[in-house]
Amino acid sequence: MAAQCCCCKAPGAEAAPARPPPEPPPALDVASASSAQLFRLRHLQLGLELRPEARELAGCLVLELCALRPAPRALVLDAHPALRLHSAAFRRAPAAAAAEPPCAFAFAAAGPGPAPPPPLPAFPEAPGAEPACCPLAFRVDPFTDYGSSLTVTLPPELQAHQPFQVILRYTSTDAPAIWWLDPELTYGNAKPFVFTQGHSVCNRSFFPCFDTPAVKCTYSAVVKAPSGVQVLMSATRSTYVEEEGVYRFHMEHPVPAYLVALVAGDLQPADIGPRSRVWAEPCLLPTATSKLSGAVEQWLSAAERLYGPYMWGRYDIVFLPPSFPIVAMENPCLTFIISSILESDEFLVIDVIHEVAHSWFGNAVTNATWEEMWLSEGLATYAQRRITTETYAFRLDALHRQMKLLGEDSPVSKLQVKLEPGVNPSHLMNLFTYEKGYCFVYYLSQLCGDPQRFDDFLRAYVEKYKFTSVVAQDLLDSFLSFFPELKEQSVDCRAGLEFERWLNATGPPLAEPDLSQGSSLTRPVEALFQLWTAEPLDQAAASASAIDISKWRTFQTALFLDRLLDGSPLPQEVVMSLSKCYSSLLDSMNAEIRIRWLQIVVRNDYYPDLHRVRRFLESQMSRMYTIPLYEDLCTGALKSFALEVFYQTQGRLHPNLRRTIQQILSQGLGPGAEPSVEQASAGADSEVDADTPALLLGDEPPSSAISLRDVNVSA
Ligand SMILES: [Zn+2]
Repeated sequence: MAAQCCCCKAPGAEAAPARPPPEPPPALDVASASSAQLFRLRHLQLGLELRPEARELAGCLVLELCALRPAPRALVLDAHPALRLHSAAFRRAPAAAAAEPPCAFAFAAAGPGPAPPPPLPAFPEAPGAEPACCPLAFRVDPFTDYGSSLTVTLPPELQAHQPFQVILRYTSTDAPAIWWLDPELTYGNAKPFVFTQGHSVCNRSFFPCFDTPAVKCTYSAVVKAPSGVQVLMSATRSTYVEEEGVYRFHMEHPVPAYLVALVAGDLQPADIGPRSRVWAEPCLLPTATSKLSGAVEQWLSAAERLYGPYMWGRYDIVFLPPSFPIVAMENPCLTFIISSILESDEFLVIDVIHEVAHSWFGNAVTNATWEEMWLSEGLATYAQRRITTETYAFRLDALHRQMKLLGEDSPVSKLQVKLEPGVNPSHLMNLFTYEKGYCFVYYLSQLCGDPQRFDDFLRAYVEKYKFTSVVAQDLLDSFLSFFPELKEQSVDCRAGLEFERWLNATGPPLAEPDLSQGSSLTRPVEALFQLWTAEPLDQAAASASAIDISKWRTFQTALFLDRLLDGSPLPQEVVMSLSKCYSSLLDSMNAEIRIRWLQIVVRNDYYPDLHRVRRFLESQMSRMYTIPLYEDLCTGALKSFALEVFYQTQGRLHPNLRRTIQQILSQGLGPGAEPSVEQASAGADSEVDADTPALLLGDEPPSSAISLRDVNVSA
């Protein structure tokens, strides 16, 4: 589509037309919504002590606030039942945030006896100043099953715009945001490991906060960890202070609460570019380094040419142990990624580029509500595909498969989803967030007729909104004012393709990119699939086919297996021949391929290959690679096999994952028949917790209709 050139104004030269301010974020998922409107959060400081043996984090949080109106009675924050508040205090602060050096924290000396209290703040008081802190009353109320509400009563005389601090000391035990891994769950088996995962609404169990992407602030942290444990955070500056034995971090740009992230363990660095290094357990470091050396800088530079300077200083990557529940998380300055991704070069490249793209879309410009997550994922996916055009045909195919499973009128297929009371926003995340979001962004790029002009628009959009949070209307208004000729043509109201309809209609994307470029890759997949599903099966033709899948790209093999999985159960002789042709080959490939083949084995009750299922489950510890298989095993006739494998492997599974699998196994067993954990691993954490922590994609009840890993959603 060619853009009209009757308009001589430079694009974007015109100021955006006045518009009403975006609607405030809905209060449904945040207890703190009312307070988020009443206060400005200028900065937050964390003093954290990691206590892996007790799976406990002891924290002191200093919130630097000012009220926007006089005499606010209370401050309401998001918290969590895992988080126990010890004290709340108030302190007047210097007017300028920079007037005071960052807070120091005093950590209690470790020793025998009961757990020491959380760290104390140590402020640089001027001589003769009034007493530093005065205690405040506080109250914790239930809010939802993924959080609680913390109300702190404020002193009555508080004036508007007067800076003050609220100091909260707390401990957090077995919080859903904080994943404690015993040494056995790491590669080196030597040191404990811990990481946090805040997306979407988990960080309220890490520290009390405004747990909404609409509120951003800078942060700093002082972290004490057991000796020999390396601590990293999503921060622009990191140092180790030898004499104090603590790590110090500072994030100089405002970020939402969910992007405050920490990881600690036996991690070592290796440089892979001028502003990038990888961090990994020592045994993984050589592989990680060789696969990414030089590449990250190339991708960063490519993204900078498209969307403007990289704003976050460093771009480091940390490889997480196999228990990491998702593929990757775009924590600023420090992408978290699962180590098993190293098995597949193709997935590694796509996923890292996707996380690089989030530096602009998601981290710098953030969706103000979880109901519009597509603003982050759709734009990041678009930017990712401007950097590399790899394989999106396969993801669109996956989108259509998910659509079939969910039904065309599923409310989660809307780009603007509606959060219902009590629903964890993590559960709204699905392929539509990514791929339908992508299709809409792609459609916008087609409207302006030239992808490079669209890149210019996105660059201006990032420049305008960086370090803030936006709603979809901001993006669309900016688009129309950047391309006034399109506004004149009322492209937002084209029949059948109205912007409003893109955002609010259920069902497939209103328009999809031309995928004919990818057809040279999909055609052989289709051909082989047709051979194997022809009726009657011409076994000789299928087996002897000239199509050699060992030469295929990972995505092609995955698509072929996805098709077979959709068609399962298959006739037994087909499965038998498939196994004969491919089983050994597929078993030597990466986990993404193996799990697909093994799901076919399970869904077809193909016993000769069950030993491969067992071996896979004995070596995989991520929910991505275990839950789908356990679900399939329990849906079919193989539940006793599943129980047996679980009893043998549970000691090596993270407690959160163990609980989810227990739920899957106990379904249909009847009351009292819950599989017992003690049976096979004495001393393991045997607690069967009713309120399974909510995690990304998450620890939702296994009965929920669809398994999202079918379609490889990375964060
Ligand atoms: Zn993403």
